[in-house]
Amino acid sequence: MKIAVYPGTFDPITLGHLDIIRRGAHLVDKLVVGVTTNPSKEPMFSVAERMAMVRREMADIDGNIEVVEFDSLLMNFAEAQGASAILRGLRAVADFEYEFQMAGMNQQLNDAIETVFLMADVSLQPIASKLVKEIARYGGSIEKFVTPTVAEDVRRHLGRG
Ligand code: ADP
Repeated sequence: MKIAVYPGTFDPITLGHLDIIRRGAHLVDKLVVGVTTNPSKEPMFSVAERMAMVRREMADIDGNIEVVEFDSLLMNFAEAQGASAILRGLRAVADFEYEFQMAGMNQQLNDAIETVFLMADVSLQPIASKLVKEIARYGGSIEKFVTPTVAEDVRRHLGRG
């Protein structure tokens, strides 16, 4: 069984993330969406909230998809999940440097697990969770970047709901 892990912070999950999940789920027998606790990123939503959001938003995506919290080294998590691949979304040039470095180091840690990059739909490429939060903080509309339910969650969180 081909298993891939798609790791991320998902703070919050965007239409870009959902597109990568949809594309990834087609490629493997099981896709594990790994939601990192990553306190160093000071997420807006708790890991429990982010996991609940990911589960709710991907409910209509076909495929064998599991959402799992993780708090360890990515390669150890992937190994424990029985994964042979790490899935990452790649956005234009901005992500390249970081992703290149991370994939290279992960390869040194465990050469049996491949990092695979997918491109989201061109219209969804510029979306980033960080900017979604920034736009919302300044009262802008985020409806083009996240689902209506996530937009509501973000506004509620900012006391604007
Ligand atoms: P991280 O904290 O690891 O950057 P994110 O939640 O921001 O996690 O993103 C998880 C993965 O999804 C990363 O590989 C990121 O490049 C990818 N991603 C995020 N937004 C998009 C997008 N709009 N299009 C394609 N990939 C994306």
